[in-house]
Amino acid sequence: MLSRVLVANRGEIALRVIRACRELGIETVAVHSKADSAFPYLDLADETVCIGPADCAQSYLNIPRIISAAEVTDAEAIHPGYGFLAENIEFAQICRDCGILFIGPSVEAMQLLSDKVEARKAAMRAKVPVVPGSEGTMDSVEEALKLAEKIGYPVIVKAVAGGGGRGMRVAHNDISLRNGYTAAKAEAQAAFGNGTVYLEKFIEEPRHVEVQVMADNHGHAVHFYERDCSVQRRHQKMIEESPCPVLDQETRIKLCDAALRLIREAKYSSAATVEFLLDKNKNYYFIEANTRIQVEHPVSEMVTGQDLIKWQLKIAGGQAIDITQDDIKLNGVAIECRINAEDPSNNFAPCPGPIDQYMPPGGFGVRVDTHLHQGAKISPHYDSMIAKVIVHQPTRKEAIATMQRALREFKIGPIKTTIPACQDILSHNLFVKGEIDTGFIDRTF
Ligand code: ADP
Repeated sequence: MLSRVLVANRGEIALRVIRACRELGIETVAVHSKADSAFPYLDLADETVCIGPADCAQSYLNIPRIISAAEVTDAEAIHPGYGFLAENIEFAQICRDCGILFIGPSVEAMQLLSDKVEARKAAMRAKVPVVPGSEGTMDSVEEALKLAEKIGYPVIVKAVAGGGGRGMRVAHNDISLRNGYTAAKAEAQAAFGNGTVYLEKFIEEPRHVEVQVMADNHGHAVHFYERDCSVQRRHQKMIEESPCPVLDQETRIKLCDAALRLIREAKYSSAATVEFLLDKNKNYYFIEANTRIQVEHPVSEMVTGQDLIKWQLKIAGGQAIDITQDDIKLNGVAIECRINAEDPSNNFAPCPGPIDQYMPPGGFGVRVDTHLHQGAKISPHYDSMIAKVIVHQPTRKEAIATMQRALREFKIGPIKTTIPACQDILSHNLFVKGEIDTGFIDRTF
């Protein structure tokens, strides 16, 4: 077992990792920027280190400062959380070079899966269905036009290094493909320093369904079923649930087995998410794999009763997964709402500022993952997600009712949050019926 872990993140996920470490008897080192120094969650760590000013480039994204903090505090491992350095291959390599354990997959597995074209190829080798599209990258617009003619419009141009919905353009004809090809390349170059793109058939009105997997360093891999993340605003997830409300048991098992085949092909260890698009005819297609713990991991924890962060820590400490797939049972329905400091009535503009009023919900079936408290200040420097409300109930109908009740109780002010937007979605009859796709929000609201 590990003895001391540095948590290279902030906010709710830093607190989530600190809590899991405490329960396992692992000491923690929390790093923070000057903007975050007043957050009480830092006191729950065994040691804290200020790593720089508010600007992420000089703190949470600053590799030398984080490595130095680990060295001076004798941390043997670093948990990167999600975002920031969690999928930064250079960071994982530097950790390895410095003899610090990176709590995540190997550098090699990250390299393979972070390149979306290489990940597609690995999926094909593992006989996992992929979206029809290019074998490799697209090196000219002519090549893209030729392929689009073959597979048929609409198509989507995607960046090999893409993330957060950037570097993607949908095209319905030759003209929009010419424009989209150039725009996707430019956007990807600016965002990721890599303008390489590939082409996929654009699946119309799909659901986003992803499988949570975990693998150890002894050849065991298990899945924790699927999450449906079709409630997206501009490709950003807002509400997630498990299980997917439209998946039958036979397709579920096939989908989860496909995810495990890819993970084995990549010789993966630690937590991963294998993302698929599910079309109207229940065909599923691999789109990408995320090599980190994800924001929405709690819904999988609630329906399986398994603590995914603890599994990450145990696996990093060398332990084998000592439960079998049969031990992981799907129980009830869990839903998560992301609460962002954004104003839904003003095009979701960020709303940083002090929180004078704070009253979180509670009661049966309600979990709130947050670092917030009355008097906290939301900094404009960081992601606007400030809390996650997760509910767990025997049925989807009950879960929706519990979430409505919890959001009604949740008081955060005077800053604006996405609570009213989540309430509107939860009461929409298409959401209630489970009849939505990834375009539902952008079409409906
Ligand atoms: P990112 O890494 O930027 O999140 P993804 O490949 O995971 O990119 O895609 C993000 C979202 O974009 C998906 O959840 C889906 O809504 C949409 N998308 C991606 N590829 C396709 C496709 N081939 N057809 C339809 N929608 C797609």
